[in-house]
Amino acid sequence: MEKLILVIEDEAPIVEILKFNLTKSGYRVLAAFDGEEGYRLALSEKPDLILLDVMLPKMDGFEVCKKIREKHSTPIIMLTARDEEVDKVLGLELGADDYCTKPFSVRELMARVKANIRRTSTDVPQGETGDIITFQNLSINPSRYEVKKDDAVIDLTLREFELLKFLAQQSGQIFTRETLLEKVWGYEYFGDVRTVDVTVRRLREKVEDNPASPNFIMTKRGVGYYFNK
Ligand code: CA
Repeated sequence: MEKLILVIEDEAPIVEILKFNLTKSGYRVLAAFDGEEGYRLALSEKPDLILLDVMLPKMDGFEVCKKIREKHSTPIIMLTARDEEVDKVLGLELGADDYCTKPFSVRELMARVKANIRRTSTDVPQGETGDIITFQNLSINPSRYEVKKDDAVIDLTLREFELLKFLAQQSGQIFTRETLLEKVWGYEYFGDVRTVDVTVRRLREKVEDNPASPNFIMTKRGVGYYFNK
């Protein structure tokens, strides 16, 4: 079954370009031209990934992102205006996984879609994912994309999961934000290191008892982050 991508964008020519390229890459595409319709389709159609414009009629992209995140961990890529630093960080704060600045290159956007889409367990080759990692009351199951704390499943976005898995698989080892951006977000990613900080903060809010005094994802001041050992 092809993955379903929901495009929420009010500019028809951009929707057409996205539809054309996504369909060519083997995805099914659904489009919404305002925020309210987009939010409604995100809930009813359960897409595998959402491309979300910021400036939208009826409800803006930030509001849509926030509301979707209250219910789902579907990967969201925000389409932001060029060089709007505030937009990039705000989108990530509200739970977006990634952003792409307009005017975007189709090749770069397709790479980000591919990198952010949640792979189902059947897509993952045997032996690629590794064993279940447990640390105290936290367990990470790479092949099922599942994290449990005290046997309760914690709902993480794909990026949050990948970051946690990467750090936990090499517990005790300190990584700089630049290295994490390269290893977890991928070589194609030309992002900002603040992306890492925002994702760490969101992750801590979900997995730590006290995010201000973490027990799993630790900060090495002036250097980077590591998983407790
Ligand atoms: Ca727009």
